[in-house]
Amino acid sequence: MPIKKPAVAKKQPAKKVVSVKKTASEKDDVGLPLSVVIRRRIEAQKARFHANDNISAFIEPGELEGLVDEVAEKMQAVLESLVIDTENDHNTKNTSRRVAKMYVQEVFNGRYVGQPTLTKFPNVSRLNELMIIGPITVRSACSHHLCPIMGRIWIGVLPSKESALIGLSKYSRLTEWVMCRPQIQEEAVVELADMLEKKIKPIGVAVVMDADHFCMQWRGVKDRDSKMINSVMRGAFLKDSNLRREFLALIDRK
Ligand SMILES: [Zn+2]
Repeated sequence: MPIKKPAVAKKQPAKKVVSVKKTASEKDDVGLPLSVVIRRRIEAQKARFHANDNISAFIEPGELEGLVDEVAEKMQAVLESLVIDTENDHNTKNTSRRVAKMYVQEVFNGRYVGQPTLTKFPNVSRLNELMIIGPITVRSACSHHLCPIMGRIWIGVLPSKESALIGLSKYSRLTEWVMCRPQIQEEAVVELADMLEKKIKPIGVAVVMDADHFCMQWRGVKDRDSKMINSVMRGAFLKDSNLRREFLALIDRK
């Protein structure tokens, strides 16, 4: 039997326990994997934790490091089950940790960190003309296969005179926050539109996303040219076909 393994297993839980703040209700969480502790907090609030949900409210400072450790440990087990000799293959030696960091700190980070802060500006000049932002680069992954989704998004906003406007770069920040989670394109665009409606309170908002799904190219039907295009139209964009046409004509999807 491997001699090294128990030593690793012994080290990890000890580290995790230290990083978990022990509240009265969490007394019996001691020794549990950090993911289980976080999951219990979520369940206690009857909140949802689907792949594309943000769970930052349930994560305490410093715990993301612990999650990386736990994911690395489990990713190592995946590599072992794939019968990859990570001890002698220098290329895969630290792959489990690299993948864990990539998931938690980069590509799925939108699940674990809070919403970017938005500076809102009053609509002083009382603009109510169509604004188009884009293309914003989208990097995401599908919830079904965790394969990359690479694409672009255009956002159309028709502000009201009372709308709070947000800085242009904030549209990219918000989009990134929503997309850095395992997603389903149809749900991602709706989530983004909901958020923009809530923040800006415009007369209308439109979101168009156009993306390559690597699960169609790398695996499955291996159709290299297939793309998915989704649009969400809200408020004035839904009611006013001229406005909708103007928006769609102005975005250059080429
Ligand atoms: Zn997929």
